[in-house]
Amino acid sequence: MEKAHKILEQKAVRITPMRQIILEYFLQNNGTFGLIELENTFPKSDRITIYRTLKTFEEKSILHGIKNGTGEVKYALCDEHCTPIHHIDKHPHFQCEQCKKITCINSLVIPEMELPKGYIQKEMTILIKGICPDCQE
Ligand SMILES: [Zn+2]
Ligand SMILES: [Zn+2]
Ligand SMILES: [Zn+2]
Repeated sequence: MEKAHKILEQKAVRITPMRQIILEYFLQNNGTFGLIELENTFPKSDRITIYRTLKTFEEKSILHGIKNGTGEVKYALCDEHCTPIHHIDKHPHFQCEQCKKITCINSLVIPEMELPKGYIQKEMTILIKGICPDCQE
């Protein structure tokens, strides 16, 4: 619980049991999870509370959402340098076509792209599709 506690304090998020549980889960499993998966993992928890927790974490730059085009947003832990104002996770995401798992490719950095005049960038996502190492065996 130590680390979750520290992150919540660092990002100025009021600590609640639900927030601690969800964050702890992300820290321990180090993957990407969507609302449905979390609901199944914590069946006793209220779905709205889980949803709100994810939203709060996204606003406070603890998690970043990954849209894979299916409508279900997956979430992954942010870099510790992410702030609500500078909440850009500049790494591509990889989705495995077999196990459907989405992974943050933290070792790669999406280069800055200058948009034509008049366009304001809010977010940038790169989703690479292919086969993950686990599915190649
Ligand atoms: Zn972020
Ligand atoms: Zn896979
Ligand atoms: Zn990511």
